[in-house]
Amino acid sequence: MTDRRNDRPQTLVRRHPLREGVSRAVVTPIQPSVVYASPSIDMLHAQYEGRAQGYTYAREGHPNATLLAQKIDMLEGAEGGLITGSGMAAVTAAIMGILGAGDHIIGADQLYGRSLRLMHQDLARFGIATTVVDPTNPEALRAAIRPETKMILIEVVSNPTLRIADMEGILAVAKAAGVRVAVDNTFTTPMGYRPFDHGADIVIHSVTKLLAGHSDVTLGYVAARDPADAKKIYDFAVTTGMTPSPYDCWLAERGLYTFPLRFDRAEANAAKLADWLAEQPKVAQVLYPGRPDHPDHAQAQKLLGGRNGNMLSFRIDGDEEAANRMIMAMPEMAFAPTLGDVGTTVSHPPSSSHRGLTPAGRAALGITDGFFRVSVGIEDVELLVADFAAGLAAV
Ligand SMILES: *Cc1c(COP(=O)(O)O)cnc(C)c1O
Repeated sequence: MTDRRNDRPQTLVRRHPLREGVSRAVVTPIQPSVVYASPSIDMLHAQYEGRAQGYTYAREGHPNATLLAQKIDMLEGAEGGLITGSGMAAVTAAIMGILGAGDHIIGADQLYGRSLRLMHQDLARFGIATTVVDPTNPEALRAAIRPETKMILIEVVSNPTLRIADMEGILAVAKAAGVRVAVDNTFTTPMGYRPFDHGADIVIHSVTKLLAGHSDVTLGYVAARDPADAKKIYDFAVTTGMTPSPYDCWLAERGLYTFPLRFDRAEANAAKLADWLAEQPKVAQVLYPGRPDHPDHAQAQKLLGGRNGNMLSFRIDGDEEAANRMIMAMPEMAFAPTLGDVGTTVSHPPSSSHRGLTPAGRAALGITDGFFRVSVGIEDVELLVADFAAGLAAV
């Protein structure tokens, strides 16, 4: 793995221990201190003015958050990224730190559920106008841009239908109009796509998912290319208290050590499971970007360089009752609306993330009552196939 800034080989596994005498702990320490003492008033001035590196109060920053941010910076080719208490805190800080009343933001129409809620409900209360567009269609984006448009928020792979955004087209349209592009890179991860390499302005992660990888910590990450944007995001996050806990940062850093290994394995499993599912008579459709029958297969290969990820969706021919029988016939599988865990999780968008839509609204997206999304983990793939075989037998 290479750090884009200096081309030195880097590793996520490098720890930063405290040295004590002639021995040293090999594990990163957790620093729970909320307050930091300064040696003098002069030094405090130097810290606040950025002439000396240090901490003052944990809401403003702490060593475990700094270390985690630096490692994700390295993966993304970013500088000065910020860790927040959740992925949604990162999304909110990016939007509300930069935009104000009278501004306009355009979002993709299949963003993560809570990001869509921001678009449809919350931002309007603060005078921020919103429009959602189909991210596979840059012309729709061009038509939606207004003089007061300040940001476009996009996910490369949409949830749960796994459509691939036309990133080249979107970035070209946005650049021509002078509008910032913020990319929520949670699904793709920097193993699949590095938004800054392609001209994006802001990168966001739900670290909760694949980066931390063990479903035991809720955290977010946001980095901006323009230092002025980064400062606005940082100030908003600190003022509104989107602070991450040192313990959570420590856990996430530990998770990161194995992120590339987990991603490789989960992706290999997903490809095998997708191909197996596609052969099952009770499966009506499989959506996986690595399969030639995916509607955006060519776009995915061009954009993601063969990194098709660990997420797949599929549809059984059947109503909610049939879907329920499938879930109940695979009790060892975690039926849970999350993703990126070491263990495979299955979710049913019509009864969870997309329950707020009307059946017609869901149908327009292809989300029938028999629609499932699978976040494939790192188990033996034979085990996964056996579980799904049992589930499908009950349909
Ligand atoms: C989960 C998720 C979020 C929100 O992250 P939290 O850590 O749960 O707040 C945002 N975007 C995407 C794409 C997600 O999957």
